Parts: sequence; structure tokens; C-alpha cells
Amino acid sequence: MPGTALASPRTESLDLDLTPAALAMVWPGVGRAHEALAVPGIRLAHGDALVSVELATVCGSDVHTISGHRPGPVPSVLGHEQVGRVLATAGPVRAVDGRRLEAGMRVIWSVVVSCGRCARCRRGLSNKCSSAAKYGHEAVHHEWELSGGFASAVHLKRGTGIVIVDDETPAGVLAPASCATATVVAAIEAAEQITPLTGRTVLVTGAGMLGLTATAMATDAGARVIVSDPSAERRAAALRFGAAAVADPSLPSAATGSLARVLAAQTRGRGLCDVALELSGAVPAVASAIASLDTGGVLVLVGSVSPSAPVQLDPERVVRQLLTVRGVHNYTPVQLQRAADYLATAWRRRPFEQLLGEVFPLEQIDAAFAAARALGGPAPAASTAPATAPASSPSSPAGISPTALFRPPAPDSEAVRPAAVAPVAARIGLAPSAVPHAVPHPYPDRDRTGRRIHPAD
Ligand SMILES: [Zn+2]
Ligand SMILES: [Zn+2]
Repeated sequence: MPGTALASPRTESLDLDLTPAALAMVWPGVGRAHEALAVPGIRLAHGDALVSVELATVCGSDVHTISGHRPGPVPSVLGHEQVGRVLATAGPVRAVDGRRLEAGMRVIWSVVVSCGRCARCRRGLSNKCSSAAKYGHEAVHHEWELSGGFASAVHLKRGTGIVIVDDETPAGVLAPASCATATVVAAIEAAEQITPLTGRTVLVTGAGMLGLTATAMATDAGARVIVSDPSAERRAAALRFGAAAVADPSLPSAATGSLARVLAAQTRGRGLCDVALELSGAVPAVASAIASLDTGGVLVLVGSVSPSAPVQLDPERVVRQLLTVRGVHNYTPVQLQRAADYLATAWRRRPFEQLLGEVFPLEQIDAAFAAARALGGPAPAASTAPATAPASSPSSPAGISPTALFRPPAPDSEAVRPAAVAPVAARIGLAPSAVPHAVPHPYPDRDRTGRRIHPAD
């Protein structure tokens, strides 16, 4: 950019002394316990911000990473779902809605840092920026130690989509917004570019954090939502999030409660849907979602975020039935804003608060991961979701009586239902115990040996 070279980086950056030192929990690799890293000072480049973390939640992908099922650089600070408060900014930093960030503002932020200049950013695919960095996905390095949510503070880089949120919405509702909620916004927008959801029949496969969020959002958009998941507990949760009906994909198609029977009952015998949102990543679920599409239907694939077996696609059917298949991964800053706007009111009428389970102090991150693992496949159904079986398979999940699997639709009510049913803990939380709310003060610049280069005054 013209003019940039004339400005001194030193005048644009801000060196901060953190008292007490920020604490980052560093993941050193598979099979090893997290290690605490004290970060006594950081340098914010022009346009960066420092935020204290109020609550971070453990995503299914974090669990995959520490389990070695997904490559991740080490050592790194994981965590990309969190809510926090602005501590400082270097120069004016604007939120997605254009407001200028000020210390004390409560914020959430995008998982991707994008450059805003590359060809992909310019065509609106900032979530796929060619020089993207991602919170919770980078090796710890000098000048970006606070790069993930599992820390008492996070260093937000210029190019991050930052969204100001209200003080009333519970932290457990807001933290997953930068993962599940914003991704669902992107998925629903991908479908609505083909057909508006109002009055449509929408099939949601997978009722983890993504699926429950999609159920609520599509229902609120005026769709009739049918949710397919082999877990009875998840299906019960889907009804509480607004599903018109739920189906067990592991049942034979002739059985009561099978996907075929439920779809037929909900569509006056048509037995097909207009939109399918595939959020489980399970290959049989992808196949059943394609098979369930009516003419003009749209399939949005979201859950398939790890390598899987290929799925058969009949090209003639795609042509003759005018089908659309779209892929969605991450989201744009504007979609994160829409996610926050949605949650700001939705949590009062849908049980989003029940998706947060136990909350651990940040220092007990290994116990938090053990609890997340014990949930048996936390939210984003990636590869931890129980595989949905084809309709011909008579198998059902072990230990669950098939007769208990189908529940009638819940009465349509805008009121928050009391938590009579056991809560579905889709996320484990981490809360820093000593959040440095004190305003950071200037941190003297030091060279590699720790010697001051520019002594104060
Ligand atoms: Zn996530
Ligand atoms: Zn870019």
C-alpha cells in the first residue's frame, strides 16, 4: 500500500506489559499434558487488539487434534471458541459493525485472520484467504504467543472479524458462536441462495452442536425441520431446539421412526425434502441426505471435515432433478455478526444454555479435555458422530431400546421450556481464574536476550 513504508512501525505498534502475566496453556503434542506458559508482555502491531478471555469452550476438533486424529502444529495454544473483553488496541480497531473497539467491550472473534487483499478475500471468500492464520491452529511463536482461546488473554491480529456482543447473553451461549453458530449461518445462507427456507422441508443430519443450532435457526427461518440422528438423547434435544420431527437413521425404512417414515409423515407422503443440511460427516448420512432431496433440492455439506470414503452420486439425477450440492467451511466476518445477532435473542427461546457442560479453571485444561472426550463426541459431529446406518440396516446403537427412540414433536412454543430433560452437554468450558482486567501498561521493547532496546523515557 502506498505510504505504508513511510510510517514507522514503531509508532504504529504498542508494547504492553501484562501484570499479572497472561497465561497460555500450551499443547506440546499427542499424549502429553498441557504446559503453562507465562506471557509477561506482547507487542500489538497496528490494528491488533488484546482481549481477556471470559470463557472458552472445547470444540470437537480440539479433541481430535490432541487425540492425534487431525494434524496440528506443536507446540500450540488450542481453542477457537471464546468470548472475552477488550483490554487494549493498537490504533483504532473497528468491529464488523463499524464501531470502534474500546477497552471493556465484550467481544467474540472469527477463527480466521484474513488479509483482505488476496484474490480470494476480494471475491468474498475471506474464510479461505490465501495467507490465512487461524486462532488455535498455529504453532506458538514469538510475537504471537497468545494465539488460541485456551489462555487468559488472546492477541487478536489485524484482519480478524471482531463482533461486539451484549452483556446479557450467557458466555456459554456466545463462546461457540465463532465455530458452530457462524458456520450454520454460512450453511443456511448457502441453501437460501438457491431457495428461501420459509415453508420448506429441511432435513438436518447429525444433532450435535452444529445440528441443534441448524435446527433452531432453520425453524426460526420458517422451515419445517426433520432431524436424523442415531442417538436418542440427541434426538430429544433436537425436539427442544424446534425440530418438527426426529428420525432414527439406523432403523429399517419400514419401522416407525425411520427416516423414510418420518419424512413421509411430515410431507404428506412426498417423503422428500427441499434442503438437506449434512452436519455429521458420516458417509451414510451424506448418502441418505442426497437420496432424500426432492426436485430442485439443495444439499449443503458441512460435517465432512476429515477424510472419508467417497459417496456415490448419480449425475443423471442431479441433472434431471436440478439438484445443487454445496460445501461450506468456516464463515465470513459478516456471518459471525449474524450468528451473534441470532444468539442475542434465540437463547431466550431455545435451550442453548444447556449445551454447556462442566466448566474447568484454565489450569485444569487436561481434565477439561478428559471430560470433553467422555461426552463421547462433543458437538461438531465430525468423525466422532455415530455413523448413521443405511435404511436397510437393522442395527441400532448398543444399549438403546429402539422402541424408546422416537418421540412425538414437541408443542410449538416460544417459551423457554424448563430443563425437565437431562441437559445435553455439547461443550466443556474453560474459564481463566485470574483474568487480568487491569489495564495493561507500556512494555519496554527488548531484544532477544531480554535487554531493553528503548528504555522507558
Ligand atoms: Zn470448533
Ligand atoms: Zn486474503
